[in-house]
Amino acid sequence: MEQEIHNALASNYGLSGTLEPLAGYEDLNFRLSTSTGEFVVKISKPGQEDNIAMQCKVMDVLASSSVAKLIPGQIRSIDGNAYERVQLSGENRLVRVIPWLKGDLLAHSARSPELFRHFGSVLGEIDRNLQEANLWHARKDPYEWDLQMAHHSLRYLRFIEDAAVRRITHYFLARFEELCLPAFIDLPKSVIHSDANDYNVVIQDSKVSGVFDFGDAVYAPRICEIAIALAYGLMGQDEIIELAEAMVSGYHGSLPMKPEEIDILYYLIAARLAVTIAKAAHARHQNPENAYLLVSEAPARTLIQKWVEINPIHFTSRMRQRLGMETGQVDADRQDRDRYVNPSLSIAYSEPIEMKGAAFQYMYAADGTTYLDCVNNICHVGHCHPDVARAGSRQMAQLNTNTRYVYDSLNRYSKHLAGKFPDPLEVVYLVNSGSEAGDLAQRIARTITGKRAVAVVDHAYHGNTLAGIEVSPYKYKSRGGTGKAPHVMELPSPSTYSDLEISKSEEELAHAIDQQGEIAALYCESIVGCGGQVVLPEGYLKGMYRVTRDAGGLCIADEVQVGFGRVGETFWAFELQGVVPDIVVIGKPMGNGHPMAAVVTTRPIADAFDNGMEYFSSFGGNPVSCEIGNAVLRVIENEKLQQHAKEVGEYFKSRLADLARSHPIISDVRGHGLFLGVELTAERAPATQLTRELIEYMKSQGILLSSDGPDNNVLKIKPPMTFNRSNVDTVIAGIDAFLKSI
Ligand code: PMP
Repeated sequence: MEQEIHNALASNYGLSGTLEPLAGYEDLNFRLSTSTGEFVVKISKPGQEDNIAMQCKVMDVLASSSVAKLIPGQIRSIDGNAYERVQLSGENRLVRVIPWLKGDLLAHSARSPELFRHFGSVLGEIDRNLQEANLWHARKDPYEWDLQMAHHSLRYLRFIEDAAVRRITHYFLARFEELCLPAFIDLPKSVIHSDANDYNVVIQDSKVSGVFDFGDAVYAPRICEIAIALAYGLMGQDEIIELAEAMVSGYHGSLPMKPEEIDILYYLIAARLAVTIAKAAHARHQNPENAYLLVSEAPARTLIQKWVEINPIHFTSRMRQRLGMETGQVDADRQDRDRYVNPSLSIAYSEPIEMKGAAFQYMYAADGTTYLDCVNNICHVGHCHPDVARAGSRQMAQLNTNTRYVYDSLNRYSKHLAGKFPDPLEVVYLVNSGSEAGDLAQRIARTITGKRAVAVVDHAYHGNTLAGIEVSPYKYKSRGGTGKAPHVMELPSPSTYSDLEISKSEEELAHAIDQQGEIAALYCESIVGCGGQVVLPEGYLKGMYRVTRDAGGLCIADEVQVGFGRVGETFWAFELQGVVPDIVVIGKPMGNGHPMAAVVTTRPIADAFDNGMEYFSSFGGNPVSCEIGNAVLRVIENEKLQQHAKEVGEYFKSRLADLARSHPIISDVRGHGLFLGVELTAERAPATQLTRELIEYMKSQGILLSSDGPDNNVLKIKPPMTFNRSNVDTVIAGIDAFLKSI
């Protein structure tokens, strides 16, 4: 083949010299060294003629423009053509010859705001000239590198093996569809280079000295030009905002932009990274050998994971500010909340946070801060997980009805959920909140046993309904509470027992039942959450269940906070205790924030409860909720989040234990997986005030934590399950810094 190329160059261009192969995405590229100079020889695949002709036109326009010095002109063939048709190995190919640009590739150059400003101004000049030439460039088929087509890469997600990268890639492609696609229609467009990546830009003396390869040029919203340049230009960089500001201001100087263009830039940059990652994963699958296809993959993965930590409001307002545009923030009206919203609600922090958005373990506040969420066990698989959000919106647009009709999602979800429980737990009642589920669980227990009394542990919380408050010492003993109801048996918090004293707790329960004369149910969380992240002593539930059952009562496990793989070792926290409850109450994480909860029980109990009174919930089990619930289970499985919780949780616990060694104020570190508690005690007394200060300090560092327990001196750690090791390091550094400062 090489000899054929030599012959073709000699006969068509009168050029001869040495050929050295260069990397190329699809074309065959060579560096040609001759006695008169150096050139790039590009040999295109057949069937590219329209595109090549267009590239030549673009380069011709620029060759006589304000950026002529920066754009390599085409070397004309002997016949005066910009390209020639040749036969290579029996195939029709197109050959072009382009002068070799001197300088270093941007890929190998140091990046600075000055350089990026110049880079931006060059891209602005290119686009201005192309716009003035009134060029039009379309491709016949959807071209996946055209940023307008980013959503076509959704189909490659399944080839991305790393779960964290896959979900973030999905998230940004979905955001692209929702936010960028509908915005395009009103944005200024032009033919743009469309691939000013760091291997297509040459630098000399800290300035852009050349831009080449117009093979991706396309008619598109102009903002795509710098979005693409930044997606590559920011790889491996720390000063992301500063470099982006410089690029934007340089471009704006050459070709002024509109605020609406700036407003989607954050998502366009992310979309380009997402396309790069998705297509690389697909390309590796198709053709494991071609390394050039993958040059940008690793840095794109790193950058997209960093990108999700950047608050889009912050990014956008910094860009707008830099261009002298209004930042246009409107704060939520606190007066309306004070006037119209239920005053019994509390607000976290001395200075409330106004939230605008979230992605996985990150939350975006209106003031531009990104918060690392260490408390939200509801958005279990991550805030706004695209699999869940899309399952819900698809079904909402298709059918939302109630359980009096037959539809597949109810059966499929119930089966999927029941499959997560050990035998004989297999019948599912779908409801709308943990409180409602707890209420139903109590009603089932009362109906089956014909008794009313319920045993609970001190400081427990089980729900906000009438029946829920009655079994929640956390509420009835605290401000506004009216005390324990006569049918409630209150047992000491298991935190007061050591392993050796378990028999004492059993005796206490037996004694309480004796006094009460009956028991309908023991109602207990598998790790006591609001009571202060209290891990039950080994064997505790086994003994308590035995005493309850011996007295004719049923055992209800409240898994509202701890279920769905959070504890790592097992899917349900009751499994840590080696027991099988009669009734399980689940909620919070079930719909990843969509309000859904359930009671799960055995066939005999469900049949006995079915005494003729219909159980109906307007919303419980509706198709939208079922699709969402199913998506949550699938994400837990596909992303192996239970195993992830185990690994990250163990790491977290060991780092906290290290911290406890250097800060004696940490009196206990406990929990399983990503359900941890850190107790703070000063001079043998609960460090309540200090805990509050620590939480405020952490907020100032962009970290959301909360406290609980009878004395509010236990830090609750129960983040979205996507929480990673680097997030752990951030939290540890924050706690350490605070404790050192006191
Ligand atoms: N049980 C436990 C253990 C809980 O933590 C909660 C909520 N904090 C509930 C029940 C009540 O759930 P919901 O708020 O969904 O009604």
